[in-house]
Amino acid sequence: MNILMVAAECVPFVKTGGLADVIGTLPKYLKQNGHDVRIIIPKYRLIDGVKYDLQALPYKLSVFVGKEQENFRIKTCMLDGNIPVYFIDNSRYFNRLGIYGDDSGVGYGDNRERFIFFSKAAIEATKALMFRPDIIHCHDWHTGLIPAYLKTTHLCDGFFWNTSTVYTIHNIAFQGSFDAASTLPMAGFSWEDYKSDKLEFYNTFNYMKAGLAYTDIISTVSPTYAKEIQGVAGKGMEVVLQVRKKDLYGILNGIDYSYWNPMTDKNLVANFSANNYDNKKLCKKYLQEKCGFIQNEKTFMLGCVCRFDMQKGFDLIMDAIGKLSNFDIQIVVLGSGDRYIKDSILYLQNLYPNKLKVYTNYDEKLSHQIYAGVDGFLMPSKFEPCGLSQIIALSYGTVPIVNKTGGLADTIHDFSESNDKGNGFVFDLYKGEQFVDCILRAYDIYNNKSLWNKVVQNSFLSQYSWINSVKEYEKMYNVAINRKITDNIYYKNI
Ligand code: ADP
Repeated sequence: MNILMVAAECVPFVKTGGLADVIGTLPKYLKQNGHDVRIIIPKYRLIDGVKYDLQALPYKLSVFVGKEQENFRIKTCMLDGNIPVYFIDNSRYFNRLGIYGDDSGVGYGDNRERFIFFSKAAIEATKALMFRPDIIHCHDWHTGLIPAYLKTTHLCDGFFWNTSTVYTIHNIAFQGSFDAASTLPMAGFSWEDYKSDKLEFYNTFNYMKAGLAYTDIISTVSPTYAKEIQGVAGKGMEVVLQVRKKDLYGILNGIDYSYWNPMTDKNLVANFSANNYDNKKLCKKYLQEKCGFIQNEKTFMLGCVCRFDMQKGFDLIMDAIGKLSNFDIQIVVLGSGDRYIKDSILYLQNLYPNKLKVYTNYDEKLSHQIYAGVDGFLMPSKFEPCGLSQIIALSYGTVPIVNKTGGLADTIHDFSESNDKGNGFVFDLYKGEQFVDCILRAYDIYNNKSLWNKVVQNSFLSQYSWINSVKEYEKMYNVAINRKITDNIYYKNI
């Protein structure tokens, strides 16, 4: 199969969250199964052209955003595993400091134009490259317009006659909803497409809705989230998803175990494995020193690495910090994003300097040191489409403490002393007391070394590899291809 991934981020080039991990990893596994997979992302300023040896291709292309003609070039390099990555290079939209907005967490005012441009440019780039995809796999609201263009403005474009689309929801909370009166003409759609079963969504033009309405197949990143978003977790999109229930797949994300590997991880002061994790103590000691904490092996050390977003359960985390201050517990938090969360948690750090250390930047190396050094990993998300951080934590023998929602419910199972099963600690009511009780349950087990070693062993053994998920993606792509063939009006008319 020829598969084109189009997304707003991809590791190692640019990352704000799990989307980038998926785009940088899933293609490698598809390629190993014999598919020709390519990736298109924007060329943001922060992507280092020299470091990644980006080569400019000899095309001068342009698309219209409203009445403005926007020129762009394509740059390219190879991702590990021999995957061509194409970067859409346009200085007006992408040559700026941030990815989606400035560092206070506020989105750029012209994001709607930026992703109209990107979606159109990705379509034109595909044609210029003469890469005829069987599947264009679009991710999140930034690329929601692509399936809509293929079924409207590009319906008669022979280049895409054999192309089906798959649209993946990585987080339904971000939908890209804009004023229709100005956005519809800017994007180049007809008012005939602005109907409740197409682009319209509660009197707005919603890019995710566009993707959901026009794509051949929809997926999301865990089976439980696929069910949840057809109900209250759907953020208004539940009815659309109920209508398309038969086309909705929930496929769990995996992680790249060659990258997140405590045996080979160069970011750690000492390496360890599931068979011998004595050196995890050295990683903990190093982290305690770095955080300015008392270095005590017996202290229960907890970590959290995530975007500063209320989705991640920061209300529970911040309430818990005071309540846990009388216990022998230290907490280290690494995150960036929402300024309100940043200021609030820094305030708590001043109150409890011996208990809480907060890092407020994006720091890949430190994230590895936290995953490896702490005993437990906090992820009390209000909702969580899949979550990669808890899966990464498991691979370092770090025990997740999570709310039972979305992908957390699919990957973390509560430890039971009666049968020694379970790879973490789970609470199932999103309430402060439940979260604190859950942490204290983990704390009690931590203080019983033989029981704790069982949970740690179970964590190490829980592997969520892409190998299984890729098989499900292949099946889904085949359904999308067959769906396209039967639905295509040209085939019907022959
Ligand atoms: P989401 O996609 O909602 O942000 P995930 O758990 O799916 O959450 O993925 C988060 C990814 O981003 C993980 O790889 C995590 O380690 C990483 N990450 C988040 N914040 C930071 C940060 N401040 N520094 C380094 N890595 C981070």
